[in-house]
Amino acid sequence: MYFFEKALEFIFLPCCGVCGKLGESYLCKKCGKELEKYVVYSQEETIKLHVFQYKDLVRKLILDYKFNDKSYLYKTFCEFIVKNKKILDFIKSYDIIIPVPMHPARIRKRGYNQSALLAKELAKSLEMKVYTNVLLKIKNNKVQSTLNKKEREENTKNVYKLVKPEKIKNKKILLLDDIYTTGATVNACVKELQKASVKKIGIFTIAKD
Ligand SMILES: [Zn+2]
Repeated sequence: MYFFEKALEFIFLPCCGVCGKLGESYLCKKCGKELEKYVVYSQEETIKLHVFQYKDLVRKLILDYKFNDKSYLYKTFCEFIVKNKKILDFIKSYDIIIPVPMHPARIRKRGYNQSALLAKELAKSLEMKVYTNVLLKIKNNKVQSTLNKKEREENTKNVYKLVKPEKIKNKKILLLDDIYTTGATVNACVKELQKASVKKIGIFTIAKD
């Protein structure tokens, strides 16, 4: 029995999402320190918080997270976030986390919605609510990264839809996205969420470009 338990422990040993080191956690001490260098805490109007600057190591991690099947990186990001009191206080000043939705066709292709994975893990760690069925993406639009600012705004029109407004009425909603660039995506989502007479809407992103 003892051997069996030890073997299980080995099988489920966490590994650092950045360097792959086994055993310590999903983010080892060394890589945690490295990530600290990219922290920007660019907090605007007290309702927006972007954790990192989108460059070098952070850019590579997010690209891997979204496009190279490294979905497990949500654990690494979550671990970094929950160890940071300033970021934690910001998140906890809201009631419900809502990840920016992806179109079902794109989820099928990628296999996961990276923002939803992180939102669920954060909500679990912080004992908060997370809703993925209130705000939907109803149009499979072009990928934003290929477009300029004006095109991005045009591309996000009539793309998101609020479906269960009663679930978020009078609540403080934190909208979670991976990268903040021009703000076109989050602005389109905020516009929909506002239809539910919410108390407050905040924006939380992993990185700001
Ligand atoms: Zn590491």
